[in-house]
Amino acid sequence: MKDTLQRFLFENIAVRGEIVHLDATWQAVLERHEYPLPVQKVLGELMSAVSLLIATLKFKGQLIAQIQGDGPISLLVVEGTSEKTLRATASLKEGHNDITDESFQGLFGDARFVITLEPEQGERYQGIVALSGDNIAAALTDYLLRSEQLDTGIWLVADDKKSAGLLIQKLPETEKTKSNIIELADIDGWNRIQQLSSTIKEEELLELSAEEIIHRLYHEEDVRMFDAEKISFRCHCTRERVAKMLSSLGEEEVKSMIEELNTIEVACEFCNHNYIFDTVDAEQLFTSGVAHISSNTEH
Ligand SMILES: [Zn+2]
Repeated sequence: MKDTLQRFLFENIAVRGEIVHLDATWQAVLERHEYPLPVQKVLGELMSAVSLLIATLKFKGQLIAQIQGDGPISLLVVEGTSEKTLRATASLKEGHNDITDESFQGLFGDARFVITLEPEQGERYQGIVALSGDNIAAALTDYLLRSEQLDTGIWLVADDKKSAGLLIQKLPETEKTKSNIIELADIDGWNRIQQLSSTIKEEELLELSAEEIIHRLYHEEDVRMFDAEKISFRCHCTRERVAKMLSSLGEEEVKSMIEELNTIEVACEFCNHNYIFDTVDAEQLFTSGVAHISSNTEH
């Protein structure tokens, strides 16, 4: 039951749910960066949160969740794709590599929570709200209510090995598959499911399988489970993208970097892969090189 996303539905109530467990996917992030514990907690939780959000993406492409603030954590980014792959990174303010005990709001300071939907084809959509609440789950619940008008319950947990999350969401009118008769029969269904879900303990969410959690919380309800889906870590950085980024700095800037150091090394902030450009590579960026280098990149 590792690195899986489990979707489920209540047969008699217009509520859907998801449970995610991240194991190797989360460890792949931790292996590449050493983050202080409070940063691990919020980044791991945001990673589970993004897994829950990409479960129902209706397009091919990616979803990017970012928290940007003026606190010790200046940026937290998790990207998830419709292929159920994730990557994540955190940036700390200079001199804040030893954060030990900070409140959630203290970690981020004055911050905003940004979610970007990036379909491969079609319009990009971005929602921005002020970061609120005492944890990632509360911040995301608030985001979904304010920007999507969706009633959602979210529980997240992360430690230095695993991360997990539970989401329940009231289905909007148009998505109701059930008749009004059933809805009238169970008018307090949403409240009851919220109540039941809120009894989940952090260690249960982290340690129990999705099936065990569903049984533990909703054994008196009629729940339909879908096939579990696999989630994995993948970084989609390429040398071509780094080349584009370098060429966007301009010839002068790149030349002076090369003169100073002989080579330019660019590490991917997500996977830590090191891209090295020597004098010849750098010259190519500004001749016909860009077109040549980029020719076989996209898709
Ligand atoms: Zn990368």
